Amino acid sequence: MGHLDQFTKTISLDAYGIKNANVKYQLSPNELHDIAIEKGQAVEAASGALAVNTGEFTGRSPKDRFIVKDDITKDRVWWGDINIPFDADKFDALYNKVTDYLSNKEIFVRDCYACADEDYKLNIRVINEYPWSNQFAYNMFLRPTDEELEHFESEWTVINAPGFLANPETDGTRQHNFAILNFTRKIALIGGTGYTGEIKKGIFSALNFILPVYKNTLPMHCSANVGKEGDTAIFFGLSGTGKTTLSTDPNRSLIGDDEHGWTSRDSVFNFEGGCYAKVINLSRENEPEIFDAIKKGAILENVVLDSQGHVNFEDTSITQNTRVSYPIHHIENIQMPSTGKNPKNIFFLTADAFGVLPPISKLTPSQAAYHFISGYTAKVAGTEAGIVEPQPSFSACFGAPFMPLHPTKYAEMLSKKMKDSGVNVWLVNTGWTGGPYGVGTRMKLKYTRAMIHAVLSGDLGLYSYDNYHIHSVFGVAQPRECPGVPTTVLSPRATWNNDGAYYKTAFKLSNAFRENFKKYEAYASEEIRRGGPQRYAF
Ligand code: ATP
Ligand code: MN
Repeated sequence: MGHLDQFTKTISLDAYGIKNANVKYQLSPNELHDIAIEKGQAVEAASGALAVNTGEFTGRSPKDRFIVKDDITKDRVWWGDINIPFDADKFDALYNKVTDYLSNKEIFVRDCYACADEDYKLNIRVINEYPWSNQFAYNMFLRPTDEELEHFESEWTVINAPGFLANPETDGTRQHNFAILNFTRKIALIGGTGYTGEIKKGIFSALNFILPVYKNTLPMHCSANVGKEGDTAIFFGLSGTGKTTLSTDPNRSLIGDDEHGWTSRDSVFNFEGGCYAKVINLSRENEPEIFDAIKKGAILENVVLDSQGHVNFEDTSITQNTRVSYPIHHIENIQMPSTGKNPKNIFFLTADAFGVLPPISKLTPSQAAYHFISGYTAKVAGTEAGIVEPQPSFSACFGAPFMPLHPTKYAEMLSKKMKDSGVNVWLVNTGWTGGPYGVGTRMKLKYTRAMIHAVLSGDLGLYSYDNYHIHSVFGVAQPRECPGVPTTVLSPRATWNNDGAYYKTAFKLSNAFRENFKKYEAYASEEIRRGGPQRYAF
């Protein structure tokens, strides 16, 4: 360790209140990989990737995500059970406890940045208790050059202490874990959880406030890629709907798989420098690019390895949310820098476990706004014995847990951008076909990819409206034909073989949409309300 070509600068953490730390600054991923193994915190998988267990938490904990209520946030943030206020004095006290905890320890520090567009660069210092969390920061944030590091001044700080446990009685937290954003001090303070996703989503949430408030830029929970003609496509969707899977496409250059900004000068840019893919049931056959990205440098989380170090991707005994992070250059076809022009096509991905939404449909501008505010997907209740009923799940802007402002702020910006750019918007059901969860099957990835390719090559857009059928419940325009997809698959009703059962379930879902939309009705224009189910306007 400590190669000659290594960047060698020493830093002190005294200014942060972290005293007498043995600071490991800007270590290379290989060094961090070795240290994590030496410490017994990780093993090397057969692929060369590092494999870690994140501990008690294998996913984010939205109920323990707070925002400090201060002069910057108090009148701007949409407070509630998504954006839970935290007292500024309590934050200062908890911060001091965390930095005391990190004092006298070996600490891993990384300087990096978010936002691939030069004009938006946000310099970040990530301070980690564990080496593998610091390697995660290497993978997921953008990596400054040695020259940039020489004069690096960080603006935001992430302090990540998984081993520190808060005392809810005195610290103002809900339980022992927490992720708190402080916009005045520009700190994301994370403790009591080793789940790495909290680190990336902490900065994402900060940008989701900063960009619309100060930079007139729309932050989006979406993936993005670009075709050979320079045509950008973006894919919105909640967790598990296919953002990472579908944006990783050998025929198109990847811009990013999760977080992007849409600027007021007709461009989009990635916030991140890496990808964070779900690996449940991953196969080389279905997803070769992601499969091959799992090599030295990648970090596998909460997977089960056999005695040879091979991952059993079907094994969900630790969690369904098994993951891998890797720097974006582990994918062959990438766009560098991670930016693109205004999108030509927008896909809203939804995993409809009721199996009633068409596998692909075209949305009018009203419908696009309505579906964006609704942010529908479904949860399959397969984890609880005996329950096979899917649950509708609505999350505004396809990412409510990360959006500090009122959803209509983002929706208004998106609607305006969609209008100004004349983008096409498509609703893609990557969920169930032939019946609901438990009866039907998940849409074949091969078909979803064929539908997306048909849109991107212009084959679907070229059809006249005669070639679309307006869905009688949802009002969306469902194509009658699509190259590479059996015609019967395009009509969900036809795949059910039982019209009565189909319509009963479709109405159950349209009712759920209506019920959910009630809380936005007061803010939504007549035009947006028209975009809901059971309307026929095209
Ligand atoms: P997150 O926001 O949590 O990162 P995501 O939107 O990026 O979620 P993916 O990681 O792409 O979601 O997960 C989609 C999962 O669904 C993958 O495991 C993929 O293999 C699986 N899948 C099965 N069928 C399809 C399909 N038709 N389209 C897309 N994904 C599918
Ligand atoms: Mn993803």
